[in-house]
Amino acid sequence: MVSAVTKQAELLDGRPIAEQIKREVAAELAQLFAARAERPCLAAVRVGEDPASAVYVRNKVRACAEVGLGSELHALPESTTAEELLNLIAELNRREEIDGILVQLPLPKQIDESTIIEAVDPTKDVDGFHPMNVGLLAMGRPRFVPCTPAGIIELLERNKIEIAGANACVVGRSQIVGRPVANLLLQRHATVTICHSRTRDLAAATRQADILVAAIGKPALIRRDHIKPGATVIDVGINRISDIETVAELFGPEAERRIEAIRDRGYTLVGDVHPLEADSVAGRRTPVPGGIGLLTVAILMRNTLQAAKLRRSLG
Ligand code: NAP
Repeated sequence: MVSAVTKQAELLDGRPIAEQIKREVAAELAQLFAARAERPCLAAVRVGEDPASAVYVRNKVRACAEVGLGSELHALPESTTAEELLNLIAELNRREEIDGILVQLPLPKQIDESTIIEAVDPTKDVDGFHPMNVGLLAMGRPRFVPCTPAGIIELLERNKIEIAGANACVVGRSQIVGRPVANLLLQRHATVTICHSRTRDLAAATRQADILVAAIGKPALIRRDHIKPGATVIDVGINRISDIETVAELFGPEAERRIEAIRDRGYTLVGDVHPLEADSVAGRRTPVPGGIGLLTVAILMRNTLQAAKLRRSLG
């Protein structure tokens, strides 16, 4: 008789690795800057009242305090004009004591994101979105690597998941996640396929992947049929859902805690991967929350340290 036991993928917890990276940053900061009586500083800029952006920025500012970086938060109203934001960026570019500048995306629709990204001094561009840093990464000479893609690579490498020679599939081709992570995987000798909304047979492509990265922004789009048995599945998506029946279907026996969260604050976070179905076939999976999101913040701290070192010719 065939056993009905469901295979349970190993969960790749982002927390211990994020904590480890933050400890490394804190130690290096203390070693390099304590004697100089200096504290490198990150300026975080948020425009408008998007609740998810407010949470992300708050977490980033909190992480600065944890590792010993200075930080300042510029929270601007939704009605801010492009000119006002450009003026603030010019001032942050000029100020010697600011080492890193982070402009939280998305911006309100009256502001063109590319104009803002290009206005940030590339030596303070700790998000790695400026065309100069994108170009350096594309050439295989990375300076600031975007935080989420760099976090994905750290998670794979520190868990000793072999990238060289693996078939990797990235679903999503954004400048923030999909493209840079595909580039980083390629530079580490994976055979990389990039999928997007026009891909004809998504499951046929994703099923080839030993490493599958989902950066789509569609709750639980990646299901059992998309996953090669034993694959490592990196779930980048962060989606808010508030429908209790959907949560029960996605999380099965673990749904109760999520349903409580919906009752308390109106939503729970889910990724782009169907957790229950993925766990029955994948070898490993990152949870949401508690996976890549934590790494993103830790890498931002590391990029800010790197900016401080570069600007003082310390490394
Ligand atoms: P994005 O700019 O909206 O890009 C989404 C990508 O998914 C696009 O390339 C799109 O294809 C593709 N796509 C959409 N529907 C698809 C479908 N049905 N089949 C295949 N591909 C499809 O999003 P993003 O900024 O990359 O973010 C993706 C997700 O990651 C979001 O949930 C976001 O919140 C999350 N995120 C998390 C972190 C973190 O720290 N964990 C950081 C950044 C983003 P086209 O190009 O053809 O439109």
